[in-house]
Amino acid sequence: NYIVGNRVDESHQNYAMAYNMLTGIRFSVSRTQAKLDRELTTADFEHKHKFSIDVTGTELTPAAKYDFKFKDYAPWVFRYIRNMFKIDAGDYLMSLTSKYILTEMGSPGKSKSFFYFSRDYKYIIKTIHPAEHKFLCKHLKDYYQHVQDNPNTLISQYYGLHRVKLPYGRKVHFVVMNNLMPPHKDMHGVYDLKGSTIGREYPEDQLKEKLASGHLHPTLKDLNWLRRDLHIELGPTNKDAFLHQLEKDVAFLQRLKVMDYSLLVAMHSYKRGNVDGLRDKSLQVFQPKADKNEEAGAQPGTLARTPSKLEHARRVRELRESMKKERPVPMEAATDIMPEEADRTGFFYKDDGGIRATNSDDTPSSTVYYLGIIDCLTRYNWKKKIEHLWKGSKGNEPQISPLPPQRYGDRFKKFISRITKGSDVAARGRRSAEEA
Ligand code: ATP
Ligand code: CA
Ligand code: CA
Repeated sequence: NYIVGNRVDESHQNYAMAYNMLTGIRFSVSRTQAKLDRELTTADFEHKHKFSIDVTGTELTPAAKYDFKFKDYAPWVFRYIRNMFKIDAGDYLMSLTSKYILTEMGSPGKSKSFFYFSRDYKYIIKTIHPAEHKFLCKHLKDYYQHVQDNPNTLISQYYGLHRVKLPYGRKVHFVVMNNLMPPHKDMHGVYDLKGSTIGREYPEDQLKEKLASGHLHPTLKDLNWLRRDLHIELGPTNKDAFLHQLEKDVAFLQRLKVMDYSLLVAMHSYKRGNVDGLRDKSLQVFQPKADKNEEAGAQPGTLARTPSKLEHARRVRELRESMKKERPVPMEAATDIMPEEADRTGFFYKDDGGIRATNSDDTPSSTVYYLGIIDCLTRYNWKKKIEHLWKGSKGNEPQISPLPPQRYGDRFKKFISRITKGSDVAARGRRSAEEA
């Protein structure tokens, strides 16, 4: 099994923060879900709900381990957004708060953000910079509208925006979003692509060692991709759908003056099969199953403990019931049940949680892609402008990462369509995931 990150347990220095995040989500989401459905209003986009949680608890707030303050942003809007992305409220709370377990991915980017996986790896909590938070608040209506008009958007799916604050502590903003990579599949290649080449490289000499050490597949970058001459192999139908959606999503980001986003491309090869899955050893509740679409050569894993679907359904029902009664959701609604398969929907997430690679005649080939536009909350601002002037002064402007949003988006689209190949490289490209 891969080592995904550090389990955030009670001895972990960020345990209190993680605990408070989950307690806050649990309380605020169940509170909003408890209410009868109604139409969204303009005021809902501005609405904020602040509350304090303490160690004694009240009739409405659960007793918690710590005293802290929690702020929930536009809860009704996010209830609607979760609905649009077909996220069931009971399942959502179950994944995030059935047990207070998170896995910390450290700080994978250059930014100081922290990433936490929900216990079942379906969701990611990302702490965000105050400027990103401000940006999302300001453009929530645009985002909402975009999702409504583009149910198959590739842009990160944001399910909630919150803030925690410990007494005398600093304020931490965070979002909950979809994890593009499904926990039940081994990844045979993970790339973060921007369409720029300067500094866009994961050191090749560290790659072998990293993979051998049993850690989560490292995220490679543009230069590593180009060096391998890889392509996103989609037959005409999927290629059209992909580039068409990319066009619309990038136009949206350009209009909002966003830049610095990337296309995350992760891939799983059915030929190489499933040995490990994305799994935390210490959980010991699940071993991945072999691919259903498995081809010769794959080593099937075994199911250590068969999760009972009935038991899972019962717990989800319990959660829904207590939401209806506007009661604090019971803490003991805990379960060890992990999802066996991705149950995602939408054009790009429907085949085993992703989109199947296809040949020039649209027949499926042996790879599945997990695609999404991530890190889309950075607005082009004075800091980026200075970075642009500084980096651009060496005469290599189109290659550098901080470009004004219009040009950033155009270069991004150009690069992605260049590496998305249909018919002409089908034969050559078929190697891609096997060799990645
Ligand atoms: P920086 O600003 O330095 O690029 P960041 O802290 O804003 O970094 P991101 O770019 O959002 O971080 O993400 C860093 C890495 O985390 C990605 O390259 C990817 O490997 C992983 N990651 C981010 N978002 C997701 C997601 N939704 N699903 C799966 N993996 C993700
Ligand atoms: Ca990034
Ligand atoms: Ca970032």
